Amino acid sequence: MTYDENNIFAKILRGEIPTQKIYEDSYALAFPDINPQAAVHVLIIPKGKYVSIADFGATASPEEITGFYRALSAVAKLLNIEESGYRVICNSGPDSHQLVPHFHAHILGGEKMGHLFVTAG
Ligand code: AMP
Repeated sequence: MTYDENNIFAKILRGEIPTQKIYEDSYALAFPDINPQAAVHVLIIPKGKYVSIADFGATASPEEITGFYRALSAVAKLLNIEESGYRVICNSGPDSHQLVPHFHAHILGGEKMGHLFVTAG
């Protein structure tokens, strides 16, 4: 899939759409989700142009991949949810209803969210 330079997160990265920067380094940017689904709901995106987690995993450099996951951990720490716990969701492709075609991870926490799957145990 070709990267769409006009997707919302590309515009945020270029500073064309305002956001509240929670964390930024040379690999990643984190900002609040505009439509929060938990007490804490932050999005983290790589600075590189990757359409999805599949694209990121397959084509990003080892430095970018390490940088992104280190940034994600740093964001959880900053948000004070490292100890209480959090959920990371990455939608990828049509079945997941991925809306924005720039790879992003949702970081959700700050409250008891229950088990994701309804199974015993
Ligand atoms: P997904 O379905 O995984 O592609 O999720 C995209 C997310 O981006 C949704 O949760 C939206 O609420 C969020 N979103 C869309 N536009 C913005 C924006 N300008 N700032 C912050 N979050 C946004």
